[in-house]
Amino acid sequence: MYKWEPTHVTWRPASQEEIHQFYNTKFQFLFEQNASSFIKSIRTVPEWACIDRNEKFIRGTLGKAIQFQTFDELKNFLIENGAISAYYGTGSLFTVDIDAKDVAKYAKCEHHPKFGDLKEGSPEFISRLDYIRNLNPRNYPYCFNCISLAIKGIHKLKQILLEIGIPENEILVYFSGQGAHLECTYPRMTELKKETRGFLASYFTTIGIPVDKVVTYGDNRVLRIPGSLHGKVNRIKTLLKPGEEFNVITTGVI
Ligand SMILES: [Zn+2]
Repeated sequence: MYKWEPTHVTWRPASQEEIHQFYNTKFQFLFEQNASSFIKSIRTVPEWACIDRNEKFIRGTLGKAIQFQTFDELKNFLIENGAISAYYGTGSLFTVDIDAKDVAKYAKCEHHPKFGDLKEGSPEFISRLDYIRNLNPRNYPYCFNCISLAIKGIHKLKQILLEIGIPENEILVYFSGQGAHLECTYPRMTELKKETRGFLASYFTTIGIPVDKVVTYGDNRVLRIPGSLHGKVNRIKTLLKPGEEFNVITTGVI
């Protein structure tokens, strides 16, 4: 299911022209195709945010979240800011984020040694990071296999939720561009208290899946918008349908 293909294909960031064109043309269709009903109800999403063309995080200040009433308002916000990345407030959703660079650092990838346990900035840390940056995709702090491992990890977490009785149609898994996301809309999961979400995030890490704990237990969490463009890799956050094969070269291409 997780195809590993040695390849010379590499990735690059999207240009501002590509970002502008993407949000003007394909975004609406891809949003409709990839987003859950929670996020499609634009007015009920607690907050929107983006990283703008100058790599500045645009987010509301304390008590004043950025909110929109219509899809066009959201779209215009992303176009006006030249959004390199686009986010929504996950509210009470149960969410998990696995970042490929954390897989490279902390998990077992057969293509290079991990280095998260080394002192950041030490010669050995820098040398291992340089080695990874020379693998495909070149100049990124992970390899293609790290992304495949992130996808494999998110499917494993989905399986755990299925085994405790969460219905499959309430668990959405995504290729995020540089990793994988899980979004669960089932009440038993969305009603979990912060402490329980924290316990689960730690449990996922202990079984070898390096999740971003803050995305699972933190307050005011944001996650990349389904169907939006990850400008650093020029890939779309894409819903992975049950049984569908993930291919690191072809999934999420504009
Ligand atoms: Zn790797």
